[in-house]
Parts: sequence; structure tokens; C-alpha cells
Amino acid sequence: MNAISEAKKGNAGETVRRVAREEGVAEETILAGLVSGRVVVPKNSSRAVEKPCGIGGGLRVKVNANIGTSREAVDPEAEYRKLAAAAEAGADTVMDLSTGGDLNAIRKAILARAGVPVGTVPIYQAAAAAAERRGRIVEMTAEDIFSAVEDHARDGVDFVTVHCGVISRIIETLRASPRLMGVVSRGGAFLLEWMLHHGKENPLYSGFDRLLEIALRHDLTLSLGDGLRPGCLDDATDPAQVEELVVLGELVRRCRAAGVQVMVEGPGHVPLDQVEANVRMEKALCDGAPFYVLGPLVTDIAAGWDHLACAIGGAAAAAAGADYLCYVTPSEHLSLPGEEEVRQGVVATRIAAHAADLARGNPRARARDRRMALCRRRRDWEGQVENSLDSQSARRYLKTTGEENKDYCSMCGEYCSMKILSRRIPLRDS
Ligand code: SF4
Repeated sequence: MNAISEAKKGNAGETVRRVAREEGVAEETILAGLVSGRVVVPKNSSRAVEKPCGIGGGLRVKVNANIGTSREAVDPEAEYRKLAAAAEAGADTVMDLSTGGDLNAIRKAILARAGVPVGTVPIYQAAAAAAERRGRIVEMTAEDIFSAVEDHARDGVDFVTVHCGVISRIIETLRASPRLMGVVSRGGAFLLEWMLHHGKENPLYSGFDRLLEIALRHDLTLSLGDGLRPGCLDDATDPAQVEELVVLGELVRRCRAAGVQVMVEGPGHVPLDQVEANVRMEKALCDGAPFYVLGPLVTDIAAGWDHLACAIGGAAAAAAGADYLCYVTPSEHLSLPGEEEVRQGVVATRIAAHAADLARGNPRARARDRRMALCRRRRDWEGQVENSLDSQSARRYLKTTGEENKDYCSMCGEYCSMKILSRRIPLRDS
């Protein structure tokens, strides 16, 4: 069953009903978003998703957590623990970016365990298989790439990143306007290397109709990857990035004509003063398609704290209209994250998403902050823990002070301003 064709008939299935309830909007709002392409509900037709979500205009900003093995760290059980940590911290989706070990088995295990939509990057599998079987990634064939997409779709993956916009003519742009960091997207680098080696067009672009056919058959959402995203502030909003975005806009229109759900991925590393322009550019060039930003990191020198650099950029991007934030962990650029880094990355990005929801006037977000303010005023410690975006950390600090039952905390003690003022000025309760 295809979500867009059902939406066109006005049929809200269980998934759309659930998403509407979660968002506090009418089912018709989700259906209209699906028809216009401004909302996606990533869900493979063959997989039951316990907590589906809608991504797009007018909805709560969503957060993705990446997990997955690397060639250097193959420990599937650790990845399943990270999946649990991401879910517990409140990630709306997860992406399995595994590149080491038995990729089919890991993907299937993650799909079996995940209660949220799952995304993958099939080119990683095609590249890893080529390296293993034929010794080099450039020995990958177009058939390997489409087979990997088909395998992932058949297994129940809900959305896939496909770097279709890395096309031959942009190679000239990269030569004409050299970058400081070059190409930092793994998928983009695999494809460019392949295109340069074989002198051929990107198969994901030249064979885009085949991709559409697979996506339609499985109701697979396409996430058009930004293979030429900037990897440092100096490369942000450069000609290659913009040219790729123009191509992605063209592909968005082909997806819509074919009835395939589509979203667009964005940068990357972007100075704070360029974040809003990047969001507006995507929305204009891609006809309002949901925008999935990878950060963006607003400085290149926050190593060890990149989750915060990402949260600052993510909040600015989502306040300007981005719909979906991919987290970054404190170990970004340095090592594969562990469970604690995954948890911290999700929490930091959820704070960014919530800050943007407030800026966008989301009534549920506003109500939650108001509840927290009342709990603080009343020194309702349990209420504060409950309303916190990270109850685990809130409780830990509360316990550390040993002040749970007092009328003030150890910060100001008897000089608690709220206690003093509450006796002297009238206060409202809503
Ligand atoms: S003691 Fe200070 S920090 Fe603690 S609740 Fe009162 S005003 Fe807030």
C-alpha cells in the first residue's frame, strides 16, 4: 500500500492516524502534507513500526540517531545497545550506517529491534561488498548498487539515503572552485571515485527511474543525500553544494510525479549566519520538500563537544524551517561513539529540536515549558524531572544535592528567590 496514493484517496490508515494523534493535528493535515510532498511518513509497506513519525512542515521537528559498525569496530551487540540508548533518549528515527561485519545480519537485527523508522545508506553495502569480493570499491557495479537498495527495501528499511545528485558535470565545478576539505560524504566519495575511474555517470542519477520503481514497490522513502556537503565552514554554500541542490530539486519533482515520498538532506558545516539562507534555498529549490540537516555544525573547532556545535546549528536551521535534525555525538570526527555518546548526542539534538518547536509556535512545546516553569516556581522536584527533556540527568543532579524534599535547592538555599517573592507578588497559574 502506497502512502501517497492512499492519501490522494483520502484514506488515513493506522500509521497516519497514529502520526496525527502524536502531533495533535487532524488526520487531514497529514494526508494533505503527503499529497503536497511537504510531509513524509517513512514506513516500509512490509514493516510494522511501533512509533511511526511524520516529518515536514507544521509538525514537530524530528531527531535522528546514527548507529552502526565500522571496519575497525565490529561489535553488533554494542550497536544494539546503542539502538536501545538512542530510543531511551528519545530519538524519533535511527539510521544503520554499518560498514563492518555481516551487514545483512546487523541490518535485520536492527530492524527487528527498532520501534522507530529505520534508515540506511545502501551504497555502503555495495561498496563494502565490492571491496570484499573484488578487492576495490571502484569495482562496484551499478547492479551492486541497485541490488543493495532492493535488499534493504525488501528487508523493511523505511528510508534510504541515495546520493543521486553527485553528477558528472559537478566534477568540473569542483575543479573550477577547489575546496578546503574536498568531499567528506562517504557515499559521495565512493560515487565520485567510481565515476572518475569508469568515466561514467552516477548510476543513481542515470538509473533514477529504477530507484523510483523500487521505492514505489516497497513504499520506501528516498532521502536525497548531499554527497557534496561542505566538510568545513570554508566550503559552506559553495558552487558544488548549490549545484547539487539544484539537481536534488529536479529529482524531488520526479519523485512527486512518480508518487514516491522524498526528503532532502543538507549540510554539514555551515557558519551560523548562513544557516537560514541554506534552509530557504532548499525549500525554494526543492518545492518545500522536508529538509533533513546533518547538524549543521556552526564551528569546526568544537572537537569533543561537536554535539553542542551541532545543536546550535540544528536549532537555527529548524527555527528557519528545517524539519529533521541528524544528531552528532561528542566523539564526531574522532572515533565511533559509544552508548553514552549516543545518549548525549540525542539529548543535545532534542534540545535543539524543542527550541525550534518553541520558535515555530508549537502549542504542545509551549505547554510543556509552561508546566516546567510552574514546577520550578513550586519547587516541585519530581515535576521538574518529569518535564525535563533528559529526566535521567535531572534526577542525577537532584540526587547529588540531596535536597529532594526541601523547599529550596542547594544553589541559593534559604535565599531562594522564588520562595521569597511568591509571598509578595501575585502570580498566575497558566
Ligand atoms: S534555591 Fe535558587 S536555584 Fe534552587 S529553586 Fe530556589 S531559586 Fe531556584
